[in-house]
Amino acid sequence: MTHVIRGGRISWYDEARIRERGLIMAIESQLARCVNCERTVDEVPLLNLTQRHGVAYICPQCLPILIHKPQQLQNKLPGTEALQPHEH
Ligand SMILES: [Zn+2]
Repeated sequence: MTHVIRGGRISWYDEARIRERGLIMAIESQLARCVNCERTVDEVPLLNLTQRHGVAYICPQCLPILIHKPQQLQNKLPGTEALQPHEH
């Protein structure tokens, strides 16, 4: 199944990387991408995360990291520094 997000919507993370490199990236970077493993929506389903700079995406496999070890995503996802790891 092909599902490209139309309208060139990209995640804040991709946007930041594009700015950092000063590059206009190829079509590939326009795809929504998991903040952790960087797989795109072409490869895996992604969940939308609303964060302070807009929208970010995470895949179901990385979601447990966000829940159990949010500190691992601190550099990738703004706001995770305020999250407490989930205790069992
Ligand atoms: Zn992922």
